[in-house]
Amino acid sequence: MAGMYIHIPFCFSRCNYCDYYKTTDLYLKKKYVESLISEIKYRSEQFKYPIETIFFGGGTPSLLEIYEVEKILSTIYNIFEVIPQAEVTFECNPDDLSIEYLTNIRSFGINRISIGIQSFSDNDLQIMGRRHNVKQAYKSIEMAFNAGFQNISADIIYGLPWNNIKLFKENLKQFISLKLPHFSAYHLEIETGTNFFNNKMKKIDDSESFEQYMLLCDTMQNIGMQHYEVSNYCMVGYFSRHNFAYWQRKPYLGIGAGAHSFHENCRFFNPKDVALYNMQNFDEIIEEEVLNKKEIYNEHILLGLRIYEGVNINFIKNKFTEFYRNFNDTAKKWINKNVLFVEGDWLKCFEKQWIIIDRVIEDFIEL
Ligand code: SF4
Repeated sequence: MAGMYIHIPFCFSRCNYCDYYKTTDLYLKKKYVESLISEIKYRSEQFKYPIETIFFGGGTPSLLEIYEVEKILSTIYNIFEVIPQAEVTFECNPDDLSIEYLTNIRSFGINRISIGIQSFSDNDLQIMGRRHNVKQAYKSIEMAFNAGFQNISADIIYGLPWNNIKLFKENLKQFISLKLPHFSAYHLEIETGTNFFNNKMKKIDDSESFEQYMLLCDTMQNIGMQHYEVSNYCMVGYFSRHNFAYWQRKPYLGIGAGAHSFHENCRFFNPKDVALYNMQNFDEIIEEEVLNKKEIYNEHILLGLRIYEGVNINFIKNKFTEFYRNFNDTAKKWINKNVLFVEGDWLKCFEKQWIIIDRVIEDFIEL
């Protein structure tokens, strides 16, 4: 079983905090959809797994026209073996949606949508350079329910430097009032090259950041959400199957500019440049990376410590004997600091310490 990721690298405008590769050259989109279709056909010769999840991510997939979504999905269904209970996710921005759009994409088999709400404060949305406002955010959720979607996720951004805990609490109240089964919550980072970085936006201070993170965790727990990955919360059974498969290192096929694929410990990359991708030289332009044992070990640590299950200690002991001693020493060090703990065969991170997980992972990494 495997996942398929379809990348839509177009955005109508650039949000002030975003460092993802994307383009606002929308005139390239028509040709790009043709290229996606050609790539799906081309890759079907090389990638023979049954597909259990499909994920449209971006950029902004909801900039696709209804007929473009249909064309892409029908190509996939015609060529690949997609299992009957496949999870098919579509990322969208609130201001692109209409009941007609949502009803149509649902009829093509999309059964999970992830909406980039980010905040229920017009002030936050404006400073972040988002195109939508709070009214549109509410409307988008209402329309999604009315179109028949049950599996709906909303994105939340916290750690905004111009906010405080009181404002964040108010904001969170709006999110949980939606009664959605899934939330993805990301801490704002000031990444190089973004408008925030160029305008010297200051990062929030660590204690405020921690306070907001703890409020987020407690609030989600109080409404029965499972914190199943550093940035993801869900009601029982509503975890993102697609993302979970990434974290478990299952094979996946990435279609589109900048997309990458993974199988048998090899990673294949498509070029990021949309104009180059549109030339459709799918074999010539691909970059390949074969992971060595050290890199595979590092990935197990990196991915395992970010999910609730943690890292399987016996697996590391048996498969990576050469790194086990370091692994054990580093684990002990962080256990003594009350950051990590052992449950059965699993090494896990305490929820309140997930906020520093990057530092912990760095310590485990074999160079
Ligand atoms: S945050 Fe989303 S919508 Fe905004 S520029 Fe980045 S990818 Fe586009």
